[in-house]
Amino acid sequence: MNGGAGMFRALVLEKGEDGAAVAAVHDLDDTRLPAGEVTVAVSHSTVNYKDGLCLSPNGGGLVKAWPHVGGIDFAGRVETSDDPRYAPGEAVVLTGWRVGEVHWGGYATRARVKADWLVPLPEGLSPHQAMAVGTAGLTAMLALLALEDHGLVPGPAEVLVTGAAGGVGSVAVALLAQAGHAVAAVTGRPETEAYLRGLGATRIVPRAELAETVKRPLEAETWAGCIDAVGGAMLARVLGQMRYGGSVAAVGLAGGAGLPGSVLPFLLRGVNLLGIDSVMCPYARRVQAWGRIAQGLPLDKLEAMVVPARLGDLPRLGAAILKGEVQGRVVVDVTA
Ligand code: NDP
Repeated sequence: MNGGAGMFRALVLEKGEDGAAVAAVHDLDDTRLPAGEVTVAVSHSTVNYKDGLCLSPNGGGLVKAWPHVGGIDFAGRVETSDDPRYAPGEAVVLTGWRVGEVHWGGYATRARVKADWLVPLPEGLSPHQAMAVGTAGLTAMLALLALEDHGLVPGPAEVLVTGAAGGVGSVAVALLAQAGHAVAAVTGRPETEAYLRGLGATRIVPRAELAETVKRPLEAETWAGCIDAVGGAMLARVLGQMRYGGSVAAVGLAGGAGLPGSVLPFLLRGVNLLGIDSVMCPYARRVQAWGRIAQGLPLDKLEAMVVPARLGDLPRLGAAILKGEVQGRVVVDVTA
């Protein structure tokens, strides 16, 4: 539901007298929308770690101006467009470009953005499903594409996913398994084993096995590829366990931003370390990734990860994701 003709409903973050931002659902006039060529009737959004930061009392250092409307991802249908690439009624998805941080985002029934930031939703993927994927899933797909570009093909050797029970990791496991890879999933939560096996993991690797800092720069050649959401000591350790010529897609830093390792895996085994960025990723690559997601992600498994929510739930969910208490993928129906 929009807030009325020329109005929309949004979760607005406003600074209180004590300087801390407080979130509340308000009806706003369309004149409050920021500049942009395309106005979208948003139907769904989601909750990422960055959203949790933006919803926190100081905006997590990401929000620079208040009042603010967060939501770094959204999906919906075009209402009006000054850009010939988009027509009213077309289904679109937006991730990245610092929308929801410095530009008003998807925690609203209406958003106005640059046409360049949007991607047409591929056939077969609903706005709800697109938000079950979100930035986390798009990033997992970008990582898989990068590994494939560097020669990864399905075979007997396993592909490792670190941070496997998290948002990026869960989708990475499902995408790799669907593409025919044997998937080893690293997790610090043994209770997620059934969930990870349900997504297609063929082996569970306890986090403790890979958490120690590198002692020997080269270990047994084990992994054909890796999607790494953890970084830090674990990434350094994994590099020394890669098979000759194998690639690691570095996605995240859940375990640390350092890289306490050695260059020997690069020099003696031709290992590749591939950087993955979803925020400024070029348009053509986004279209390719969303297309592969629509074809290659088992949507029944995706649905099993979904936790439904409404705008009013977001302050609670934002705090929960920062504490690592959110499981699966939250899909926010902003019209509910
Ligand atoms: P989540 O919080 O959902 O998942 C992170 C997972 O990492 C956790 O579930 C946990 O997995 C594991 N983990 C957490 N802390 C540690 C630790 N200290 N040591 C080892 N493992 C740990 O986050 P997302 O999946 O959404 O994001 C993962 C990372 O990717 C984040 O760092 C995020 O900032 C980054 N990211 C990067 C993007 C890009 O464009 N490059 C886009 C999106 C996210 P388990 O419970 O299975 O052990």
